[in-house]
Amino acid sequence: MDSVFEDVRSILENRRLRSEILQQQKNELILEEHPQLQKIEEQISEISGQILLNSLDGKNNDDLSAELRKLQRKREDILMDCGISADDFLAEPYCKKCGDTGFVRVTGKDGIETDTLCECMRSLLAPVMISRSGVDRYPGYSFEKGSEEFFSSDPVMLGTYTKLRLLAEKEKIPNAVFYGSSGKGKTFTAVAIARQYAMQGRSSLVVRIAEAQELLMEHRKMIQSFYTPAQKERMVEKKVSYLTDVDLLVLDDLGIEPRTANTEADLLNILDTRGLSGKTTIITTNLDMETLKERYRGRVFDRIDRNFAKFHFSGGGKHA
Ligand SMILES: [Zn+2]
Repeated sequence: MDSVFEDVRSILENRRLRSEILQQQKNELILEEHPQLQKIEEQISEISGQILLNSLDGKNNDDLSAELRKLQRKREDILMDCGISADDFLAEPYCKKCGDTGFVRVTGKDGIETDTLCECMRSLLAPVMISRSGVDRYPGYSFEKGSEEFFSSDPVMLGTYTKLRLLAEKEKIPNAVFYGSSGKGKTFTAVAIARQYAMQGRSSLVVRIAEAQELLMEHRKMIQSFYTPAQKERMVEKKVSYLTDVDLLVLDDLGIEPRTANTEADLLNILDTRGLSGKTTIITTNLDMETLKERYRGRVFDRIDRNFAKFHFSGGGKHA
């Protein structure tokens, strides 16, 4: 399992332990302050123990059970008289939303319940996800307030941008290709989406196609070589699997990478693996659809054409 999840899990575990210990101390204080409560707790635990022993021996427990119920009622009366509620005995979690489990159950529009990451978990994951995503190379590329101004001269583009921002915030970006001439905000928008994912504790990665290609070439060389230092091997393996595993992958600048014998097979492999596991891929390219089709004949273009929503970036200003 990814070490970051293990780290986060142990933080949550510590929070749970901590609140249990605090609660135990609080319970002891309550009992100390109310000796009659302490006495009845002792009686209840003694009788419960006897009932357990009797049932192991197959003996009748009717009288003891009646006695237990009487004691429990008396306990409730005492609690009420002292103004103590049953909640006072419950452990108070660090995060009340998820009880320090890291997950909350949400009901979707279709009525189906799913577990999603709680905000506390997201905020623990976010810094790691940001640093892994590669968005730090693009300072200022984000959905911050005012970022939409770049598109303000073109109402259609502004609409597209706003829609994509909302989708990223609500967690459902489809596979998408951003195309159009350079400087129209394709990379800007794609990086902003990747940043949004990471800030929500989800994994994302922005990589230029040429870089991904180099990495996969290195991986192939490594497999074929007789010896690779273990540490380097692990690092390359990790990076390669991140290409297929991240929740959101941005493949930036399709069409300017040097063509090699493996270019199409590599691309197809990434797109197909991610497609099968339902992960989102965003491709940016300066090429139009016709040129893309000419350049990537066959299956690569076919995948993009069939499975990707197409967003044409056009209009005024100049941006990345
Ligand atoms: Zn939480």
